Amino acid sequence: MELSQAAKAILEKRYLKKKYGQVIETPEDMFRRVANNIAMAEENYCKHHVAEMTEAFFQIMTRLEFLPNSPTLMNAGRDLQQLSACFVIPVEDSIEGIFDALKVAALIHKSGGGTGFSFSRLRPKNDTVQTTGGVASGPLSFMKIFNVATEEIKQGGARRGANMAILRVDHPDILDFIKAKKDATKYTNFNFSVAITDEFMQAVAVNTTYGLRNPHTNKIVTELLATDVYNAIIDMAWHNGEPGVVFIDRINGANPTPHVGYIESTNPCGEQPLLPYESCNLGSINLAKFVNDNKEIDWERLKYVTGTAVQFLDNVIDMNQYPLESIAEVTKGNRKIGLGVMGFTDMLIQLGVGYAEDRAVEIAEQVMGFIHTEARNASKELATWRGAFPNYKGSIYEQQGLPLRNATLTTIAPTGTISMIADCSSGIEPLYALAYKRKIIDEESDMQINQHVKKLLEEHGINNKNLLERISERGSVQGINEIPLELQKLLVTAHDITPKQHVRMQAAFQKYTDNAVSKTVNFPSNASKGDIAKVFNLAYETGCKGITVYRDGSRLGQILQVSSVT
Ligand code: ADP
Repeated sequence: MELSQAAKAILEKRYLKKKYGQVIETPEDMFRRVANNIAMAEENYCKHHVAEMTEAFFQIMTRLEFLPNSPTLMNAGRDLQQLSACFVIPVEDSIEGIFDALKVAALIHKSGGGTGFSFSRLRPKNDTVQTTGGVASGPLSFMKIFNVATEEIKQGGARRGANMAILRVDHPDILDFIKAKKDATKYTNFNFSVAITDEFMQAVAVNTTYGLRNPHTNKIVTELLATDVYNAIIDMAWHNGEPGVVFIDRINGANPTPHVGYIESTNPCGEQPLLPYESCNLGSINLAKFVNDNKEIDWERLKYVTGTAVQFLDNVIDMNQYPLESIAEVTKGNRKIGLGVMGFTDMLIQLGVGYAEDRAVEIAEQVMGFIHTEARNASKELATWRGAFPNYKGSIYEQQGLPLRNATLTTIAPTGTISMIADCSSGIEPLYALAYKRKIIDEESDMQINQHVKKLLEEHGINNKNLLERISERGSVQGINEIPLELQKLLVTAHDITPKQHVRMQAAFQKYTDNAVSKTVNFPSNASKGDIAKVFNLAYETGCKGITVYRDGSRLGQILQVSSVT
């Protein structure tokens, strides 16, 4: 199978089996190991499917049409056998509860998963502690401990842990939380998001106050002007991209199993809202592989890969070894999976459509709508012979008379590493730069040029070395006279696209995604706070489940940098 140099390097460093420090499996062996292991779940239902599904899983992975999330690639068929990327762990308002959560998080990080927590149940700073007569430290203080613990647990040498910290906007410590990452050296292993309620957004709209509630006593302790808090969030988001926000009422409005629990947090990158103790495994279809020679989408193949991927991800739930019995219980009760896409921009380039064009939004809806429908069909079909998910009774699907095998089907993940393995554009993001230097595992690699961009430039006879050098210096082709205008329109980067267009694309994908969508909305460095506020409002108005912004140059250690900046 064909893999890029970067892909080989990542696989060797983190994914392939090693003995005494030596790599002892090839990438093909790895996919064989994963396919063999995941197809074993077929034995639970229909033994004669095993060989056929092993081959089907092997094919879609080695053709780079579909890849599961990193923990599945790393751990399937090995001792760890921990296959999920996403977990949410509840944090109770007691010392035992806090340290129980810390222990579970440590176990999850060791196995390559990421953890999300809501700290909203913790009593605020300076509240009383009855048993000792002392005062409580508050959520932010305990989060420091989680941060240090994460720092110390290198994930089996594979990757450092990632956490999401969520605090409800009506928690009394909210202003401290919003400002906590002003010092960039603090809480480095956490992404921060404020859980915003509809009540809060209404208070912002009419410029009134709202109540802050002590979760311990369940009493309103003070009121704040909603716009002051909203402006504080926007101020910090402008400053360094954090906190993001999640629209928690909207997330719970879409909760498929409200009878099982309330959703209070998401996984680290925000795309997967989960119940307490719930985990979810993700996988992504590489859309770059579904454009045929006539520059049309190969719907038949996309349907096949979607169905096969759903079966793969459903099998993962059976084959997974869970770090805790309570996690196994909730996860197996709902059987959530998160099938998404990557290589969306590569698909657009092959179709001759620029990311900022209206047509790109239409394609997004068409493709994700198709995947969503086909994934549902596949899950429904699986339910006929494997049974609906155990918590189906009482779920929103029971009301619709739609027995499904999985309580959710679709999620758009960032695909940070698996898109590098597949050598495609990440998730639904536009290209960050047409040519750039990419750090691979702490080492700076050579200049990277997107393969589809390279091909297109060559097709237009653009292979003049100086010109390519200029493109790579700027990262963009906009305003380069030698590049035909139609190409300039097609080859837009994250910076050439307005923030509004970013949100529009996020909303288009969200329409057909059960869970949430990972997307960064890029702003130029000279964007104002007002620009950021407009985009937060737009995300709320257009049905997004959350929003994360990034103003160019506002954070140190940016992972991807345009070559002229490095
Ligand atoms: P990948 O491409 O490696 O499969 P993604 O970038 O799509 O992963 O991230 C998906 C999810 O995996 C994240 O939201 C998070 O839950 C988890 N994750 C990502 N990176 C890490 C990490 N370094 N440590 C722990 N979990 C992670």
